[in-house]
Amino acid sequence: MKPGMQEHGTRGAPSRRVRLLLVGGGHAHLGVLASWIAQAPQGLETCLITSDRHAIYSGLVPGWIARPTDGDPFRIDLAALATRAGVRLILASIVGLDADAREVMLDDGARVPFDLLSLATGGEVDTSSLAALGPRLLPVRPMHAFVERWPGVRAAARVTPGYRVVVVGGGAAGVELALAARQSLAGGASAPVMLLSDDPALLPGHAARAGRLARARLKAAGVELITGHAVGVPDGVLLADGRIVTAGCVIAATGPRPPRWLRTSGLQLDVRGFVAVGPDLRSVSHAGIFAAGDIAGRVDNVLAHNLSRSGVHAVRAGPVLADNLRRVARDPGARLRHYRPRRHSLYLISTADRRAILSWGRLVLSGRWVQWIKDRIDRRFVARHARLGRNTEALAWTR
Ligand SMILES: Cc1cc2nc3c(=O)[nH]c(=O)nc-3n(C[C@H](O)[C@H](O)[C@H](O)COP(=O)(O)OP(=O)(O)OC[C@H]3O[C@@H](n4cnc5c(N)ncnc54)[C@H](O)[C@@H]3O)c2cc1C
Repeated sequence: MKPGMQEHGTRGAPSRRVRLLLVGGGHAHLGVLASWIAQAPQGLETCLITSDRHAIYSGLVPGWIARPTDGDPFRIDLAALATRAGVRLILASIVGLDADAREVMLDDGARVPFDLLSLATGGEVDTSSLAALGPRLLPVRPMHAFVERWPGVRAAARVTPGYRVVVVGGGAAGVELALAARQSLAGGASAPVMLLSDDPALLPGHAARAGRLARARLKAAGVELITGHAVGVPDGVLLADGRIVTAGCVIAATGPRPPRWLRTSGLQLDVRGFVAVGPDLRSVSHAGIFAAGDIAGRVDNVLAHNLSRSGVHAVRAGPVLADNLRRVARDPGARLRHYRPRRHSLYLISTADRRAILSWGRLVLSGRWVQWIKDRIDRRFVARHARLGRNTEALAWTR
């Protein structure tokens, strides 16, 4: 038995219920809840600890910014899903983990023990070079805070002369958000939107044509694109050429970094500081701990190691994670399934003009039909989880 793993009982006959903690309402845990709803796991007592009652489906957020709708199309009710899945829900943030003692620490000081732990809290945004902005800084994560603050930014931009929105980050999220913000603020005073990217090729990880299409769309939409490293100052950003660009709001979409509490967890981490997992999504140092989505870093082979951090992989890992948690709860030495990412994943990047860019390996296309497909896929995902949680009393348990 590997260190950190508790023997649950003899093979096939657990002596007591195994306590499983799911931490974070990330995409992979939606898969676990769906699996538990489909078939209740035997011998497991499951508890979900997550910072907010709703999971936010990020794929729908740029569209909501570009064309605000009544209600929030991107919210998935975790309380309803947990109720149906027979899972206890604790609304709290974890601030620490002791992997050897098998305990998580919550923001209210409580310590929660576990036999099995699964982490899907996603990452944080690296805002270290932008911190001087203070309240003008709007990081994309936590996403709940982001979607709560955006309407205030839009309102301020409409009435404040000289208000500018700057988006930092040239990846898919930065491009989508800059174009969505531009669309949202068009008309009236029409606050300018600027995108800053320290990588001259936009959309790193995608074929060059995707970056070129994004650049052309930014130009057509009137979003100024500046390349180079930017640093936050109290009233805006300091560019590499020494210019200061004043901004009412700076959106940080600089990609995920590992949550800080991982550093002292005792878990083996990958070179970037994410939880080092194998193909079975199990920690390479602690056999009773699993991780999936943005918080995990595959260390088993080069293809997996270079896997982009995206909702696509977090979603696909869900069913494998669910299966492995069931298996290991029954038998700590069980053979586990592997999550085998496809060589290329399909990415659909909204450009806020009712079109989107399709990127799949070297294939890059764009058009209205791409946005139509994206919208359909994203809305179906949220609707499926709404259906799963329906007909329940959506209770949020607290300790
Ligand atoms: C604007 C935007 C658009 C995007 N669009 C796409 C797209 O179209 N397709 C795509 O594949 N990817 C997209 N991404 C990337 C995608 O959002 C992430 O890769 C994905 O959300 C990662 O999922 P996750 O399950 O790891 O974590 P998350 O989705 O980040 O979920 C984390 C969960 O854990 C909870 N949590 C966080 N910290 C704690 C804590 N300390 N304690 C307890 N709970 C905690 C949160 O409340 C949340 O429920 C987009 C990202 C952004 C910013």
